[in-house]
Order: sequence, then structure tokens, then C-alpha cells
Amino acid sequence: MTAKYLMALDQGTTSSRAVLFDLNGGFIASAGYEFPQIYPQPGWVEHDPEDILRTQTDAIRAVVKKAGIDPKEIAAIGITNQRETTLVWERTTGKCLYNAIVWQCRRTAEAVRKLCRDIGVVRAIRAKTGLIPDAYFSATKIRWLIDKLDIQQRVNDGEICFGTIDSFLCRQLLKEEPHVTDATNAGRTMLFNIEKQDWDEDLLRLFNIPRCSLPTVIDNAAMIGHLKDDILGVPVPVCAMAGDQHAALFGQGCLEKGLVKNTYGTGCFMLMNAGDTFDQPSEKLLTTLAWRLGGRPTYALEGSVFIGGAVVQWLRDEMHFIDTAAASEELALSVKDTGGVTLIPAFNGLGAPYWDMEARGTLTGITRGTGRAHIVRAALESIAFQSYDLYQAMCAHVKLSEGNRLLADGGACANKFLMQFQCDILGVPMMVPKTLEITALGVAKLAGLGIGVYSTPEETVFKQTESRVFTPSMDEKERQAHLNRWQKAMKAARYWSELQEA
Ligand code: ADP
Repeated sequence: MTAKYLMALDQGTTSSRAVLFDLNGGFIASAGYEFPQIYPQPGWVEHDPEDILRTQTDAIRAVVKKAGIDPKEIAAIGITNQRETTLVWERTTGKCLYNAIVWQCRRTAEAVRKLCRDIGVVRAIRAKTGLIPDAYFSATKIRWLIDKLDIQQRVNDGEICFGTIDSFLCRQLLKEEPHVTDATNAGRTMLFNIEKQDWDEDLLRLFNIPRCSLPTVIDNAAMIGHLKDDILGVPVPVCAMAGDQHAALFGQGCLEKGLVKNTYGTGCFMLMNAGDTFDQPSEKLLTTLAWRLGGRPTYALEGSVFIGGAVVQWLRDEMHFIDTAAASEELALSVKDTGGVTLIPAFNGLGAPYWDMEARGTLTGITRGTGRAHIVRAALESIAFQSYDLYQAMCAHVKLSEGNRLLADGGACANKFLMQFQCDILGVPMMVPKTLEITALGVAKLAGLGIGVYSTPEETVFKQTESRVFTPSMDEKERQAHLNRWQKAMKAARYWSELQEA
């Protein structure tokens, strides 16, 4: 039977999904199941590994049923996942010894603070991993698990495996039960040297984590193994893995240095292809692997906006200015501008490029004439301004190619006012693909590359991926006036942190 489809497993923070595409990247069907979030203490977040496994397996079966296809027609499977979330299991039995510690979990924040007292350590971590030390990354989570479970000896003896979600799914879903991870997921552990492409001996020593407990690091497109027979009845090859943001960058076809994608979800995640050499990290952004293919790494710059679409949820749920997120567009367009109002949604500080945890939300320029619509419009603009700031920080670091453009995805892309304003403020064209499943598409394409359906990454940039295109149309004077207003309001938001210090 000829292979007609590629399947992506998209294991996210709140749900596990499976998505089928045809070999031209056309969407066929998707299925997914949510699972519970476990909050043992304020700031702590866990997932039950059994929940992840059950929902993921159910999603695989459900999507095949929904599409009405024969599983033999699936050429290959790719896995994309929530990054940094950490699990521990016994090598021989595969039995997990603890819940998954989720990327958002702050239980190791104090350990990271202590680590950061040594500026030499911070610099070494920056230079080796491209990361700014944080409790998000897996290293301190692994250390916490070893201490909590009192298993240092067993770990040293090679009886214990650590892994991120990708590793865990390979161990559980594949016949071969490998202990592997891909380079993009390894790059988020704070233990992987992204220049040398290997676990870093100095960092392993620093955290006292032996190499034998960590997975073998492989390319993003490679033959990993075969799905266990009891899942679909056939051993479908699994040929790709990538962290979710990396899969999205690939899914958007950002194969050239300087191409950028921004995902407009609850927060915004911006990644820029930074080419195939690892430069010294920028002060303000993370450097990460975009992907590794044929043993050759491509790098990316990464930055995130904490409050993106979440500001629209705030308008809906707290301010009661709108009934639905979608209603924000019509209301914003009901006024010609914000009437001088600027909103900085620094509700829990500001991420890149500001890194100001004390900054707080600020609304400036209110007059007697200010209404709901002005504030809603200012909120949508704030998503665009924050993304502009990230984009500028990236452009300062990477020399851009001609014909640059921004590729957008995520739920808030449905808002045409936001997309046009974003494009005007950036002064570059924007493209929003019609398919919403960009992350899944990215890893499906990598799986196609892994199994040989495509022979080069370029072949995965499908001409028929339809996009909505936005072109900049604002005059330069107006654009500068907007940016000026934003920068002044930003000073007010950050003035708060000075007040805290005083
Ligand atoms: P996540 O993957 O982070 O859950 P999604 O990509 O599903 O996010 O996008 C959801 C976010 O997008 C929400 O914060 C929501 O407020 C926002 N959003 C959805 N539709 C619109 C819209 N039409 N206009 C503005 N924001 C929107």
C-alpha cells in the first residue's frame, strides 16, 4: 500500500493531539484530549505521566478513525512537544518515579537564584547553552528529583533515565524503547553545549548529573524506531522530533537566516533563524537551536512576550469590556485611533528584551473622552508593540536578508486589525498561513524528511500553503509617532520598578 500521509504527535502543556497531513502538507484531520494540571503547591506544576501517555495514545487512534484511513498509509510519524518538562524513569522497567515537572513550575527558582550569585557560572551557561539561567530549564528540575528521591547512587550506576517529553514518548510508544532526545529538546535542558553539540562536561559536573542518565542526542529528522504494534496494529516508523517552537519555525518554512516567525497565543513566542554559526549570545535574547539536520546545526534567536493574547482575556474576564476575544476587533475598529491611550500589559513584569520583573501594567494618556473601544484598541496594539520590541532586538543581532517578512501563527492571528497594525509598525510584510496547525505541520514535514518522502528541507516549503498577506501601509511619520508614544509609556511602566527600589 502506498504511503499517503504524515502524522504529527503534538504533546502540549494542556492537551495531547495527533494531526494527519497529506504529503503536500494539506490538513486531513486532528484529534486531541486535555489532561489535568496538578498544582501541589502555589507555583508548582506537575503532569501525571500516565495521563500524558493515555491521552497521546488515544489521540493517535482517534485521528486515524476520524480520517477513516488505513494506518498502513501513514509514511511516518513526528513528535513535537512542550519543552523543558522533565521526567524520571527506571531504565529496565520504564516505570516513572515521579510526576513530570512542568516547564512553568517554579520549585527550583531558589536554587537558580543561588546559582546566579556566581556571575562566572551565569556567563558559562550563557556561552555554552545560549540560555539565561532559569527554573524553566530541565537541569535544576533533574537535580531536584535526584535529591527528593534520594537516588544519586542509582543514577550514577546507570539504572535511572531522565528525559523531556519527547524522550518519554519514545521510551513508551516505540517498540525499540530507545533513550533518545533531539537536539532542540536537549538544548533546553541547560546541560547541552549547543556549539559542540554534546552534553557539556562542566555543566554535568556543576549539577552532578552523570552523562549515562541522559538520552542520546539525535537529529531532528532521523529514523528513531517504530510505533508499538498494539497502538495502531502496524509498526509505523517514527522519524522526527522537535520542541514545539522549533517545529513551528520549520513549519513556517523559515529556512533562511533572518526569517522570523511569531506565534500569537496566550503569550507570544518569536524565533528568528540565525544561520549555521553560533555567535556570542545577544544580551537580551536566548540563543537556541533551530534544528539539526544531517548533523549540521542551524541556530535561532528566541524571545517571548509574557502577556500577548492574555491581555484580550483580561479585557473579557476582568474588565468585561468584550464578550469574546473575537469581539475585540470590531470594537477596536469602531474608533479611528486610541485617542492617545497606551496600555503596557506588564502584569507580571516584562520579558525580552526588557527583563524587568518589577515593571507593572500601565495605562497612559487617559482623558475624559476615553472609552472602552480606545482601551481595547490600545490592548491589541500592545501585543504588536511588544512583538516589535523583540523583532528589533533580533534585527540588532542578525543581519537581515533582503525581502524579509514575518510569518505569524497562533489564535490571535484571527484578528485582522492586530495583524495589519503589526505589519505597519514593523514596516515589513506579514504572512499568516491558512492552516492553523503550523507546529504539527512542522514536525510532520521533518518526519517526511526523515523517512525520505522529501530529500531536502527546501522541498518541504510547499507552494500550495496558502497565506493571508499583509503589507505595510502606514506613513513613516505616523509610525514614528506610535513608537514614540509606546516608548514613553514604557518608561512609565518601568518607573514602577524604580519606585520599588527607592
Ligand atoms: P495558546 O496556544 O497559548 O493557548 P492560542 O494560539 O489558542 O493560545 O490563542 C489563544 C489566545 O489568542 C487567547 O489569549 C485569546 O485571547 C487570543 N485570541 C483568540 N482569538 C482572538 C481574536 N480574534 N483577537 C484577539 N485575540 C484573540
